Amino acid sequence: MADRTNVIYFDNNATTAVAPEVLEAMLPAFGPLYGNPSSMHTFGGQMGRWLNTAREQVGQLIGADPEEVIFTSCGSESDNSAWYSATVTQPEKRHVITTKVEHSAVLAYGHYLEDKGYDVTWLGVDDKGQIDLEELERSIRPDTALVSMMYANNETGTIFPIDKVAQIVKAHGVQLHVDAVQAVGKEIIDLKKLPIDYLAMSGHKLHAPKGIGVLYVRRGTRFRPFLKGGHQERGRRAGTENVPYIIGMGKACELAGANIQEERTQVAAMRDRLQAGLLAAIPNCKINGDEAHRLPNTVNISFEAVEGEALLLQMDQYGICASSGSACTSGSLEPSHVLRSMGVPFTYAHGSVRFSLCRYNTEAEVDRVLEVMPKIVHNLREISPFAAFLKK
Ligand SMILES: *Cc1c(COP(=O)(O)O)cnc(C)c1O
Repeated sequence: MADRTNVIYFDNNATTAVAPEVLEAMLPAFGPLYGNPSSMHTFGGQMGRWLNTAREQVGQLIGADPEEVIFTSCGSESDNSAWYSATVTQPEKRHVITTKVEHSAVLAYGHYLEDKGYDVTWLGVDDKGQIDLEELERSIRPDTALVSMMYANNETGTIFPIDKVAQIVKAHGVQLHVDAVQAVGKEIIDLKKLPIDYLAMSGHKLHAPKGIGVLYVRRGTRFRPFLKGGHQERGRRAGTENVPYIIGMGKACELAGANIQEERTQVAAMRDRLQAGLLAAIPNCKINGDEAHRLPNTVNISFEAVEGEALLLQMDQYGICASSGSACTSGSLEPSHVLRSMGVPFTYAHGSVRFSLCRYNTEAEVDRVLEVMPKIVHNLREISPFAAFLKK
């Protein structure tokens, strides 16, 4: 079986390893401490203490008060809950603004609302993946219920100017949801200074397990729960709390806070060395995204005239894990909606690979990838039907 001891894992925007400290913190709640926090007896009731600690740890990382933190089952649930709440609490407003490059958890809710008769403005992006702030402002209408925008793009790492977005949106009195799943732990986020209403996080992008998320809801924002039932999470999210995972999420946030500088210096330096090495060794490749405003761990690079999926299969032979910017839909390779929105040329869009690093990666792993990639790209270009177009 392949595990971290024999793979080079450069796919941390897809999911991350659970930190050993997180696993250790969770174990008692899988063992002797199995009580239900809602129980009247001490054995169950004592679990509430663990939930409080986790809520404080999450709040500490993003500048939120513990009462503003709602635990959910995943980032997708957090995104859906924000959209649900913003629309059902303002039923007279039937317009929403978002972007074309959001995660599917947001795109799909937008399409669902369109089916229900809502008007959705899908903001486009430029060739670096950036939105036009003037277009955003022009798009706001009296019946706009919500603006929803990601903090950082999972495919390219491009960071939106969320502080400027917030200024514009709040000046018009409109609610703002930010999908910060990729940004938390990599960018410094202080919700005391950033006037947004909702923010989504996901555990498994931040060294907590898969299946735990957070929705931040600013105090004073009218809220209606997406998941209805019991009174857990102060009536804002029904369902018996996933105590072990909530403990893990809290611990992961504490660690993220302690490691954020390392993420922004050492991890960024490894990413930069990987990028520079690939560009130097391989002709006809180009970086996708906004290098001046980009997550410190991410590089998305297109190798002209090769197919990303073929590249990934070759890389897999060497135990190198990454993602491609194209997905095989109904037999034909479609470039991702993000690269398409950026207008990345056809022969480049198909050959895109996303490398996403984390603090567990090493310089030796970067060396190994730099040793292997030029050979793989060269060999694939030898057999590529598009190779004739390559500039010599
Ligand atoms: C992964 C991801 C999500 C979804 O999170 P899940 O916990 O997997 O549901 C949402 N938005 C972005 C930007 C992501 O990268």
